[in-house]
Amino acid sequence: MIDVIADQPWNRGPMDPGPIDREYFEAAAQGRLIIQKCTNCGNTQFPPKTLCVSCGQTPEWIETSGKGQVHTFTIVRRHGIEPFSGLPPFVLAMIDLPEGARLMGNVTDIDVEDVHVGQNVEAYAWRINETLALPLWRPAQN
Ligand SMILES: [Zn+2]
Repeated sequence: MIDVIADQPWNRGPMDPGPIDREYFEAAAQGRLIIQKCTNCGNTQFPPKTLCVSCGQTPEWIETSGKGQVHTFTIVRRHGIEPFSGLPPFVLAMIDLPEGARLMGNVTDIDVEDVHVGQNVEAYAWRINETLALPLWRPAQN
């Protein structure tokens, strides 16, 4: 299970994910970080798609541990588009999961200069509304 932060009002604009992405955000609101895994070939993938990108069969959702490692990242120091213009500096990272997929997300709760490749991070979720939450990453607690 991952923490769901509900005491911080959502301020990143409207979120209306499509039918495939929606499950990911709904699971996050329930404290679960999920990715797709193919029942035929075992491929894990993110972002979610209708078919397995490796063999074309139908993938299923699996729950992950919520643990990850920074594969690479960039520090966003300027952003000209609302509602993001007040956010910089922030870190946008690619996170490798032990379950196999690589996710993009923000690394928070740390000085942007202290983020590094190989860093152990854990997922948490920021509540958007009653049904949706956005997974984010922070340094692993232990
Ligand atoms: Zn497959």
